[in-house]
Amino acid sequence: MTLKLDINPIKAWMPNIDNPLLISGPCSLETEEQTMETARLLAKDKRVFVFRGGVWKPRTRPGSFEGVGSIGLKWLQQVKEETGLPVGTEVANAQHTEEALKAGLDVLWIGARSTASPFVVQEIADVVKGTDTVVMIKNPVNPDVQLWMGAVERIHQAGIKNIVGIHRGFTPFRETKYRNYPNWKTFIELKRLLPNLPVICDPSHIAGTREYLFEISQKAFDMGMEGLMVESHRDPSCALSDAGQQLTPADLGKMLDKLVIRYENA
Ligand code: PEP
Ligand code: MN
Repeated sequence: MTLKLDINPIKAWMPNIDNPLLISGPCSLETEEQTMETARLLAKDKRVFVFRGGVWKPRTRPGSFEGVGSIGLKWLQQVKEETGLPVGTEVANAQHTEEALKAGLDVLWIGARSTASPFVVQEIADVVKGTDTVVMIKNPVNPDVQLWMGAVERIHQAGIKNIVGIHRGFTPFRETKYRNYPNWKTFIELKRLLPNLPVICDPSHIAGTREYLFEISQKAFDMGMEGLMVESHRDPSCALSDAGQQLTPADLGKMLDKLVIRYENA
């Protein structure tokens, strides 16, 4: 059964956008300087519309950098004040969501591990209820289109109309050179089920390494996706998380120059 949910096109909440929607920023915010410098460099490239930065990091195993926590929300506010870019972070429970809303963040996204848990998605939905926040929902780690769709429905039932799906690949279930398997069929199926849901691609978490970012991004546009979320860092080699897949803002610009982008969804 296909569902025509009452979901706004990207242009409705980002009126100045010239498609595609490009979101970029560090995997993790690490320091105020790293945040601000990365944001300043990205803001110079007028193709970047939203600044992202993870403050609570869902690491697969304990012991690695788990994010700076709430202090990062202050840095995101500074980015917004100084550059004018809307800002967003990942939320994974009710407390994160409350704090992020209180800090005035424009975009919240639900990570792949959280989308896999209906309880977590519902908890987030109960907090965002009645706000005009943009909520982006990454695919679950497993290629279960119903679980992805269910998360969209839960957020939609909370009255949120600014919803975007993000394809970030799936825990490899067959051999792949990528970190996460880009199962384009699951994206096609999601669009069949929810035809008016805007969907963008996160090539960073699919690729796992910089060298594959271009081919995945091009494929995403060729498939009709409406934008990209790409991780960037002022100095990727020093990044505390996902160092191998982040681009400098300058290299992001070069990749965007090379991409053949279809504007037909504009
Ligand atoms: C991220 O965007 O930094 C992240 C942790 O993503 P994912 O949920 O796709 O693993
Ligand atoms: Mn990351």
